[in-house]
Amino acid sequence: MADKEGFLKYKRQLPGSRSPEERKKDYQEIYKPLDPKVLNHQAARCMDCGVPFCHNGCPLGNVIPDFNDAVYQNEWERAYQILRGTNNFPEFTGRICPAPCEASCVLGINKDPVAIELIEKSIAEKAYELNLVKPNIPTERTGKKVAVIGSGPSGLAAADQINQAGHEVTVFEKDKEVGGLLRYGIPDFKLEKWVIDRRVDVMNAEGVIFSKDTEVGFNIKAENILHNFDAVVLTTGAQHPRDLKINNRDAKGVHFAMEFLGRQNQVNSGELESNPIHAKGKHVIVIGGGDTGSDCIGTSNRHGAASITQLELLPKPPQARNTLNPWPEWPMTLRTSSSHDEGADRVWSVLTKEFTKDENGTVTGLTVVDIEWKEENGRMQFFEIEGTERTLPCDLAFLAIGYLGPKSGLLEAFDVELLENGLPKSKNYHSSVPKVFLAGDMRRGQSLVVWAIAEGRECAVEVDKFLQGESSLARRDQSFYSYEETHD
Ligand SMILES: Cc1cc2nc3c(=O)[nH]c(=O)nc-3n(C[C@H](O)[C@H](O)[C@H](O)COP(=O)(O)OP(=O)(O)OC[C@H]3O[C@@H](n4cnc5c(N)ncnc54)[C@H](O)[C@@H]3O)c2cc1C
Ligand code: SF4
Repeated sequence: MADKEGFLKYKRQLPGSRSPEERKKDYQEIYKPLDPKVLNHQAARCMDCGVPFCHNGCPLGNVIPDFNDAVYQNEWERAYQILRGTNNFPEFTGRICPAPCEASCVLGINKDPVAIELIEKSIAEKAYELNLVKPNIPTERTGKKVAVIGSGPSGLAAADQINQAGHEVTVFEKDKEVGGLLRYGIPDFKLEKWVIDRRVDVMNAEGVIFSKDTEVGFNIKAENILHNFDAVVLTTGAQHPRDLKINNRDAKGVHFAMEFLGRQNQVNSGELESNPIHAKGKHVIVIGGGDTGSDCIGTSNRHGAASITQLELLPKPPQARNTLNPWPEWPMTLRTSSSHDEGADRVWSVLTKEFTKDENGTVTGLTVVDIEWKEENGRMQFFEIEGTERTLPCDLAFLAIGYLGPKSGLLEAFDVELLENGLPKSKNYHSSVPKVFLAGDMRRGQSLVVWAIAEGRECAVEVDKFLQGESSLARRDQSFYSYEETHD
């Protein structure tokens, strides 16, 4: 145990961030480095509980109390080995995970939880600094070839694990660079892209082959992949956006969030000269109160928007847990992101009615009405509040209201059976087609980076078992997945 009185002695402390005024001028990481002594105190706050709920709260099963102890003892190599044993990419999750582990930390019952995500990031960065992240080139090769289609976090995790099992892995990626939504969705101020490059270089040195700019089903036929590889893993995400079916949706200036965010990341990396969707001087409305919406706020502020309003259909969540949402459940409480802190008006319980447009077809406003949520016939329903209808000025609108599932084409090309909801039928990461496996958002629907990594790792075990009859790859405690593994 780190320090048996640490949780009494020290308060939770996170690194400070650059001021909103300063950080809005660039797309770089917003957090400042943390004093090593403060980090040591944060690790010391871990109580090493007999039943570590945090460990179970993490979809990867990260062994949190053990790495906290190693950090407290200044044993960075041990800390990294513990972390690396369950998480291929702690440098990603340490930056952008919503940290369900912290929501289930026992200290969180009556104090602020241990700063687990910060400790995870610190271990990953220290490991690179101390040159502990070296290519681990498999010494024996099985002669089997595996194709991974899609290079988001699930594809990368699957590729990393399958390669370590000795199979030859080729990752096919339709985009110019590797990373999926890590690179072309999540803004740089949350995750700078050198963090991805650094890890991809290690995987490259370990023997993983990356075939970029290669869209399977377009540049290479599915039949060729099936013919040339012993197993195929589909990890192409769930990037089919939900649309808003209201009047004048076709107005110029109304876009899906990803049309804006993806291009901004391309501009930042030099892949694109300028963003054709620009918020400078505009009244921006972001529809959808989640993370993607919040990323649109951060990016619009960096463009110099005149105003930003974020609309959410659901009511404003409470500041603290209520009795129906006790620890260690995920807290359904108000979340304020760093992008919100940079400036935006947030409106809850509001329904979008229609866009207005001028004679050129350009959006000029968005008509909305306040709503009230009531329980009727055993379920929550909303009702418009009379007299509250109004039109908000709007020159640019972003739809950030979720994703319906995988984009069409690839699953059909592989003849994979689909469920009614558009997700592929799967059992233990196998699809309905022999030797074709599934993982990540494509299999479970839009989710989180931590889940994508967890799916990639679990899928790799199934692929290895399929190719060799057994697998010595590590896997998560299976009771955790009892509701997760089968989608049929
Ligand atoms: C704007 C935004 C912000 C987010 N922020 C966070 C966050 O802060 N924290 C968090 O945990 N999660 C966040 N998420 C969710 C997270 O990014 C996803 O859950 C995760 O990336 C899913 O990983 P994946 O590997 O399954 O798929 P993806 O990341 O979607 O990767 C799929 C890859 O497949 C490629 N592909 C598709 N079709 C083909 C083809 N035919 N041939 C070859 N390649 C193909 C795509 O180009 C892409 O690279 C965010 C999502 C969005 C959209
Ligand atoms: S990956 Fe996420 S849930 Fe798991 S320990 Fe890290 S921050 Fe917590």
